[in-house]
Order: sequence, then C-alpha cells, then structure tokens
Amino acid sequence: MKDSMHLKTRLVGLLGHPIKHTYSPFIHNVAFELTGLDYMYLPFNVVPANLKSAIKGLVALGFRGFNVTIPHKVKVKELMSKVSEEASMVGAINTVLVEEGKLFGYNTDVAGVLESLYMFKKEISDNECVVIGAGGSARAVIYTLIKHFRPSKIHLVNRTEQRAETLRQFFKSKMKYDSFTVNELMPPDIKDIIKSSSLVVNATSVGMYPENDDAVLTQNDMFTNNQIVFDLVYNPVETKLLKLAQSSGAKTVDGIKMLVNQAAKSFEIWTGEKMPTEQVEKALLLKLGK
Ligand code: NAP
Repeated sequence: MKDSMHLKTRLVGLLGHPIKHTYSPFIHNVAFELTGLDYMYLPFNVVPANLKSAIKGLVALGFRGFNVTIPHKVKVKELMSKVSEEASMVGAINTVLVEEGKLFGYNTDVAGVLESLYMFKKEISDNECVVIGAGGSARAVIYTLIKHFRPSKIHLVNRTEQRAETLRQFFKSKMKYDSFTVNELMPPDIKDIIKSSSLVVNATSVGMYPENDDAVLTQNDMFTNNQIVFDLVYNPVETKLLKLAQSSGAKTVDGIKMLVNQAAKSFEIWTGEKMPTEQVEKALLLKLGK
C-alpha cells in the first residue's frame, strides 16, 4: 500500500464518529494501488459539533471528496450545493464530491445493493421479496428493488412495525409503488411470506459482531433452495443467517460484496475510473482471514 505522498497526490477520506472499525481506508487504498492512481484515503474521527469546520478544512486542503458515516449522514445534507436522486430518496448522504469548492452529495449504497443483486435480476423481478429492517440501509434496499428490479410484492418486516409502515407510505407517495405488506418481526409468524419470496434481505444489525450467534430468522426450514438470501451485515462475513440459508440450499450474498460495491461507486465519483472490485474483495477477505 502507498507509503508516501507528494503535492500532486489527491486526497479523499472518511468523516465519522466512531470510525475505529471501518474497512474503507483499506478498500480504497488497495484500489488506488491496484489502479496506479495517485490518491490517498484518510479516516478522520469527527464529533458532530465539528462537522462543519472539518468539511471546510477538507475543502481548503484541496480534498477531492470524502465519505460520511454515522452520525453525519443526514446532517451533512445542509452543506451540499446539490444532492443526487438516490441520496434524497434514501434520506442520507455517504459520499461527497468537491468540485470548484462546491459540495455534491451522493448515496452509493444503492449502487452497492444493485451490483450485489444484479446477477439475480431474473429471479427477483416480478417475484415477491422480503426486506427485514426499516433503517437507513433498508431504505436503500427498497429504493433499489423498486427502481431496478420491480418485484411483484415487497414484504416489509421490522421489530417496530410503525417504522415499516412509514417506509411504505414514503415509497408509495414518492415512487408510486404500493405492492407492500407490513409485518412485525415475529418468526415463525412470517414463515409463509419468507417461503413465498425469491429474495430475503436482512437490513438490520442483528448478527453483527460481537453478537455473531444471533440471527434475525432462526429456523432453517424457512428457506428453500430457490431463494436468494442477502445479509447486509459484513462483520462477520459469514453470518449465522447466511449459514442457516446455505444449509437449506439457498444462494447467499454477503455484506462484504455490498461494502466493496458501494465503495466502488464512491471511487468512480471521485476518480472517474472503475474499481477492480473482484481483486479488492479478494484482498479484503484475505485481510479478514477468509
Ligand atoms: P439503522 O438505521 O440503525 O437500522 C437498524 C435496523 O435494525 C432497524 O430496523 C432496527 O429495528 C433493527 N434492529 C436493531 N436491533 C434489532 C434487534 N435486536 N432485533 C430486531 N431488529 C433490530 O441501521 P442501518 O444503517 O440500516 O444498518 C443496518 C445494518 O446494515 C448494520 O449492520 C450495518 O452495518 C449494515 N450495513 C451494511 C452495509 C454494507 O455495505 N454491507 C451498508 C449499510 C449498512 P427497529 O426499527 O425496531 O429499531
């Protein structure tokens, strides 16, 4: 990985709090090395009170752009000259491009979901899907499904049913799509909708390190070998949910794929170049001992 920089090196980075466990510097710096682009990615731990001044500083220092993560993804919007359609539909910005001192906000989770599921487009389109979760990442998943896959029905499932209902109302009014059911997360009550769906997505944080033994669905007889099960959780790479799904013969997509694909979109926004995602994913899995 790059061990020196000079005046021409272009800078990008990450603003978040906390940022201790982020894989983004590794992903981007490996990609810069693989492509030979003279860029460097730096992480910054920025508390909310310092967000504005930190961004002013990055612009003054000539940064090409930056990622924003928790807790800045919504607040950063007020500093943007323009926000992409994806970012306004998802209600969060995770990537900023700096152009002639102006800030442009994007949400690359949508591209991350799209790229991760694209190979299953035929199976997903015109079939039923289940999305578990109603937070920021669930919004990116639902937007992507409606815009790019057009499933016949989306079953929204969440621990707090009201949040799922709010999402239904939002997408009904913004995207004129109203083929939803809204459900509380109460397995085995949702067994039938899981069984009737070609895609099951976990967009909750259940199963995330250090709670590796938890899963949002715990019975493997819910899955079939015709299904695709996508877990957004990327630490651990192979979650309990994915192991259960695999044991029933379902096809699985892990959160690392989405993580690399959403980073690839940021990379493209900043550099205009494609990230070599397969090589970057391999390098990341190797680093994680996979
Ligand atoms: P968020 O906005 O905080 O939403 C969290 C969701 O998880 C809510 O629906 C919440 O339900 C649910 N939840 C939390 N604890 C639960 C529990 N014990 N039982 C049942 N449901 C529970 O989070 P987010 O930003 O959407 O992120 C969700 C997950 O996706 C995280 O693990 C994150 O790391 C991952 N993610 C991955 C990528 C990637 O690139 N792979 C990108 C974005 C996010 P309530 O509404 O009832 O609270």
